[in-house]
Amino acid sequence: MTTAVAPSTAALSAADRCDRCGAQAYLRVELQSGGELLFCAHHAREHGDKLKEIAANVVDETHKLSNTPASAADDER
Ligand SMILES: [Zn+2]
Repeated sequence: MTTAVAPSTAALSAADRCDRCGAQAYLRVELQSGGELLFCAHHAREHGDKLKEIAANVVDETHKLSNTPASAADDER
């Protein structure tokens, strides 16, 4: 018996680096064209909307960063 697993959504590791700045990557974007991009949390947020337009699949692990309390969540005034 063989068990079918999807290997394409592998978790990101500390060795994965942002394509823009070289920081640790928390977002993997698999493009519809077959390529792959890696972004840190900062650039994931900056390019997020655009990336979703061209992405076939997005692995978002930015929640791993939420161990530092972000007070900017509801910053209305
Ligand atoms: Zn970056």
